[in-house]
Amino acid sequence: MVNLKTPRDIEAMKAAGKLSAQVLREVGNAIRPGISTLELDQIAESFIRTHGGVPAFKGYGGFPASICASVNDEIVHGIPSADVILHEGDIISIDTGAVVDSWVGDNAWTYPVGKVSDEKARLLAVGEACLYAGIAQAKPGNRLGDIGFAVQRTAEDGGMSVVRDYVGHGIGHVMHEEPNVPNYGKQHRGLLLKPGMVLAIEPMINAGTHKTLRGSDGWLVKTRDGKPSVHFEKTVAITERGPVIITIEPNHPKPL
Ligand code: MG
Repeated sequence: MVNLKTPRDIEAMKAAGKLSAQVLREVGNAIRPGISTLELDQIAESFIRTHGGVPAFKGYGGFPASICASVNDEIVHGIPSADVILHEGDIISIDTGAVVDSWVGDNAWTYPVGKVSDEKARLLAVGEACLYAGIAQAKPGNRLGDIGFAVQRTAEDGGMSVVRDYVGHGIGHVMHEEPNVPNYGKQHRGLLLKPGMVLAIEPMINAGTHKTLRGSDGWLVKTRDGKPSVHFEKTVAITERGPVIITIEPNHPKPL
């Protein structure tokens, strides 16, 4: 069942969304060669807690940290570690969220570490374009397939592939609600989108094959061919007037 939110619920979700966006920016600003992903996690957890939130990821399904930190060919769910040190030329996907007033925010961004290869730079640009192409379709009267189609077309026109094994999701008082939000699909197919749906739209885009591999810790997901992957996510409310990004800082309308 899809939980529809009232306009008042959507307003209330903006506090969690704002803090989620702020912490993502805070972590993004700290990214540099030499820093470990554990240090990034500590920055995130302390920022969330000192701003009145609770890390949404910590303890979720047993996940041990406040961010997922996935480097280069890692797609999602990387566990932060003192042993994972960032180097010039890496890309790193940070996925994080906060709970405020019992509402959850969820967002992700992939950052370059210093100067990256042309392939990675292209992948970053295509991945970001995929996110906004998907968000633009999140409006009443469209269907879930319109979101997936827009993401997939943007990725494949850019020479990249769309991860199938992991998808976006509804979000509210818990992080993962119905419906699943695939990043591939057919136009005019699937669930009808209605005002009050709140979705985490999160394309995971690969430079090579879309196929994935599971790491030995049970969490980490990597590309099967070792080529790089990016992940861009925002929490988006569907309203009568179209998509409204919830994970946003009001003073930074074009975030990051
Ligand atoms: Mg998500």
